[in-house]
Amino acid sequence: MTQRWPILVFALVMLAIPYVPGMPPFWLVLLDNIGLSALVAMGLVLLTGVGGLTSFGQAAFVGFGAYTTAVLSANYGVSPWLTLPASLIVSGLAAVVLGLVTVRLSGHYLPLGTLAWGLGLFYLFSKLEFLGRNDGVSGIPPLEIGGFRMLDPGAIYYAVWIAVLVSAVLTTNLLDSRTGRAIRALRRGHVAAEAFGIHAPRAKLLVFIHAAVLAGLSGWLYAHFTRAVNPTPFGAQAGIEYLFVAVVGGAGYVWGGVLGAAIVVILKEVLQSYLPLLLHGSGQLETIVFGLLLVALLQLAPTGVWPWLTGRLTLRRIGRKPDSAIELPARVRPEAASDVLLQVDNARKQFGGVVAVNNVSFDVQAREIVALIGPNGAGKSTTFNLITGVLRATSGSILVLGKRIAQAPPQEIVQLGISRTFQHVKLVPDMTVLENVAIGAHLRGRAGPIASMLRLDRADEARLLAEATRQIARVGLTEQINQLAGSLSLGQQRIVEIARALCVDPMLLLLDEPAAGLRHMEKQRLAALLRELRAGGMSVLLVEHDMGFVMDLADRIVVLDFGTKIAEGTPAAIKTNPKVIEAYLGAGA
Ligand code: ADP
Ligand code: MG
Repeated sequence: MTQRWPILVFALVMLAIPYVPGMPPFWLVLLDNIGLSALVAMGLVLLTGVGGLTSFGQAAFVGFGAYTTAVLSANYGVSPWLTLPASLIVSGLAAVVLGLVTVRLSGHYLPLGTLAWGLGLFYLFSKLEFLGRNDGVSGIPPLEIGGFRMLDPGAIYYAVWIAVLVSAVLTTNLLDSRTGRAIRALRRGHVAAEAFGIHAPRAKLLVFIHAAVLAGLSGWLYAHFTRAVNPTPFGAQAGIEYLFVAVVGGAGYVWGGVLGAAIVVILKEVLQSYLPLLLHGSGQLETIVFGLLLVALLQLAPTGVWPWLTGRLTLRRIGRKPDSAIELPARVRPEAASDVLLQVDNARKQFGGVVAVNNVSFDVQAREIVALIGPNGAGKSTTFNLITGVLRATSGSILVLGKRIAQAPPQEIVQLGISRTFQHVKLVPDMTVLENVAIGAHLRGRAGPIASMLRLDRADEARLLAEATRQIARVGLTEQINQLAGSLSLGQQRIVEIARALCVDPMLLLLDEPAAGLRHMEKQRLAALLRELRAGGMSVLLVEHDMGFVMDLADRIVVLDFGTKIAEGTPAAIKTNPKVIEAYLGAGA
């Protein structure tokens, strides 16, 4: 939860500004422009700063919003209040179409893709007859409420800034929710997010639509502000400028979008009015100076001016005290200890010529701790990836409670009650421990994006956070619950991953080197926790190099070497197995 009172103060200040005696109308025009730009930048914050999807094409969505209302209201006489939903829907639909194509792109292709549509749509706007080609559409009516026509900049000012404030609150709410966590998890790559049931393309598409609808809203306001539209403000150059606004303000922060808009709009205005006087009329120079100033600003505040100014103060999370008495329904567990939970049957994985997993078979029963050991590169982590659907087996099959899961995506496998940690920790470093762990409970929540924006998700959210709090307490990290995950030691981060995996309420927990980086006492705590989980009916499959830890804990051990299973048995049998001693344990073990 972020603090609410600064928003209220800001709203009151903005409300008062037009009443300041002697306020030049020109300033109100600037403020209108700031608000219009802030709406687009806010969408980019979510898209680029939070979701990690860089878009150069947002101006096109402003265009969709502006042209929709321009054509409907100027040419067909439709009331602007009716064209508002139309503008938002058209922008949103355009985002669905473009997003479906674009979100599947990765790396540099994604920003290039957005640049391509930015250029393409500009061309389209300037060529279509019914959009007035290069001349655009004029004669757009002003907004009007009960006979009050918002003709001057001081009047539409309220419409613009109410839109900005409402959008900022809705966007902040969205980020602080189950859906928001899913979006924020994406930036660190898909693997961890998908392991907890997050559908990455769907989450990305949602962000695309949200950003586009905000841009469309800006376009709708713009059209009724300028009362004429032409293609120029919706081209690729404008798209690049919007991205600049978001980055300068602080692309990870909703209010960074607003601040960035203020900085860029005012800076441009100042340069345009004063630079020619200073340099005796040599034009075009302001673009260069503008660019240089922005680069200097980013040197000073690389993550944007907002976090630099606030010292992240206003974004500091208030320590939440979720009610740990609220329960989530638990999974039905297999009754008999002899039930085979997981069966790996002749699983094989080849990477080109490398056989990482060579026809390996073993199983894990209910209420059993099985250890998978072997030298580095033996194929242990790859086996985990096959079981959890991160990788597809070249051949062989994997069965959960007798049902084949080969080829099932990670999101389906986690639903079956298999959750995991990663050898290389995959937490979101700038999210708190609580938020990271709550990602584990993603599938146990229901609230969608709309409910989250409107804060109708609070009961659902309280249940998820209560569950996360319980699991954090269980692994002994209650004191760190509101710290950023990235500030913890690597050993503690591994434990956070265990809490996240426990939030799935798994039948089978896969732990990849959980004790690495832990101190002796911490290892003992971990061992005690795993025994407690086993007693509670959970099974654990464990990769670990600390042989003391493994031998004490495991019911059974499977040994891999060069992808091949060379032994399987009780700790006592494995300890004395000559093949294992030769390949892995060494004579001294
Ligand atoms: P372990 O976890 O037992 O140390 P891994 O399962 O990580 O071993 O790796 C087994 C083998 O597969 C190694 O030779 C490794 O280089 C190779 N390998 C693992 N993942 C990939 C990948 N994504 N692409 C190509 N080779 C891989
Ligand atoms: Mg490994």
